[in-house]
Amino acid sequence: MVTCLNYINGEWKESVTGEVKEIINPANQQVVGKVQLSTAEDVDAAVQAAFEAKNSWKKLSGAERGQLLYKVADILESRIEEIAQVMTKEMGKTLPEAKGETARGVAILRYYAGEGMRKTGEVIPSTDSAALMYTTRVPLGVVGVITPWNFPVAIPIWKMAPALIYGNTVVIKPATETAVTGTKVLECFHEAGFPKGVVNMVIGSGSTIGQRIVDHPNIAGITFTGSDTTGKRIGQGALARGAKYQLEMGGKNPTIVAADADLDKAVEGTISAAFKSTGQKCTATSRVIVHNSVKEAFVDRLLTAMEGITVGDGLGEGIWMGPCASEGQMNTVLSYIEKGKAEGAKLIYGGNRLTDGDYGKGFFMEPTIFDEVTNDMTIAQEEIFGPVLGIITFDELSEAFQLANDVEYGLSASIYTENIGAMLQFVEEVDAGLVRINAETAGVELQAPFGGMKQSSSHSREQGQAAIEFFTSIKTVFVKG
Ligand code: NAD
Repeated sequence: MVTCLNYINGEWKESVTGEVKEIINPANQQVVGKVQLSTAEDVDAAVQAAFEAKNSWKKLSGAERGQLLYKVADILESRIEEIAQVMTKEMGKTLPEAKGETARGVAILRYYAGEGMRKTGEVIPSTDSAALMYTTRVPLGVVGVITPWNFPVAIPIWKMAPALIYGNTVVIKPATETAVTGTKVLECFHEAGFPKGVVNMVIGSGSTIGQRIVDHPNIAGITFTGSDTTGKRIGQGALARGAKYQLEMGGKNPTIVAADADLDKAVEGTISAAFKSTGQKCTATSRVIVHNSVKEAFVDRLLTAMEGITVGDGLGEGIWMGPCASEGQMNTVLSYIEKGKAEGAKLIYGGNRLTDGDYGKGFFMEPTIFDEVTNDMTIAQEEIFGPVLGIITFDELSEAFQLANDVEYGLSASIYTENIGAMLQFVEEVDAGLVRINAETAGVELQAPFGGMKQSSSHSREQGQAAIEFFTSIKTVFVKG
């Protein structure tokens, strides 16, 4: 059985207490591995290593730093199958999804490796004709990276790769639930030959070591993805000591199906976005807002297509939807289903834990659909983070946009329509950081900015070239001959 260690100053180390936690496979409750339950002291050692490494790391050229990221990409690529298997065992998503995510990690690393060769400033004409004025980007210093369990390869990499290419050193705290996968990612950095202290990982609970990362005076910036409750707390802590922070949080993402929508495409996109990864994506569709004139036809086709969803252990051949990532997650989802029923939504598909045979060993649920949902219901407002979809109806497009916006979140949204006017109005009126037309709400491209509006984000953007905004500061330079 693997016991995952912290990675500090280029070495694999036990935490100071030596305390470990077992990580459980949500498909069968077998132990996948053990991980450290570290303390603030372990974080302090990692921050010290990152702090000491930062000056020599930032002196390297972007191209030199890029070469190391290319190496990590090659190593990760050679381990896709192995790492994807661990991911599936650790958090339940199906093997093809886990492989896709790991391959995404490889692509992100290569993208940011290339960024090391691109411009990091601009020349601005000075009012003094004898002067040269330009901007240059400098790294923040040590960056704290705090990540969730739902994308245990892609999210750490889409934060660490830009942090590193722009000259920062890193202390990462992966979600404990997926720290075995996180360790495998760090092994790739280790094997690539990163200088000591440039990349460090400490594993343990959010309230202990996550909080220490937030509070540590030598951490200049904190990049976080996770729930809005945790995010707000992190934002407050960072603000209180003047550290830069970036928060990417939850969603309550709508798909609008207009009267003229291609219903087959709309059904396919809705099912994929609502139920892939067992609904545990921040960009998952949790509300489908359908025009009354096509509602019946849409629901008929949706229910027929639902029969194609095979639930089981994500390692199994032909399995489309795995278990919930943990017992706690499953119980949260089940309690939302109870709330939905109690508040008057009509359960038209699923709604139960699966317990027959092998299902009983894990945290499996039926994919679930509620009809007759209204926006005042809890299931229409709160992020469920599970395989539950609510159907809401509308008559006028303006009403659909209003319903789409009438939640605290604003991460992603989509519309199915053939009408260019409706498309443009949707782009204009719906408050979401990612708006997609005739495409599902989930679907992020690594070279484009990603982030939310309203309570979904601290209004910063990740990925693509937008990442430079968080991971660097601008210096304006004025040179007079
Ligand atoms: P979470 O907030 O419980 O945990 C996220 C991370 O924060 C974990 O590493 C956790 O240990 C740590 N943490 C917990 N308490 C902390 C504290 N007091 N100080 C510092 N760190 C602390 O979230 P989760 O359950 O792991 O992930 C699910 C959430 O993530 C959902 O809300 C989902 O929408 C969101 N998410 C958002 C995006 C996005 O890009 N917007 C992407 C994926 C997931």
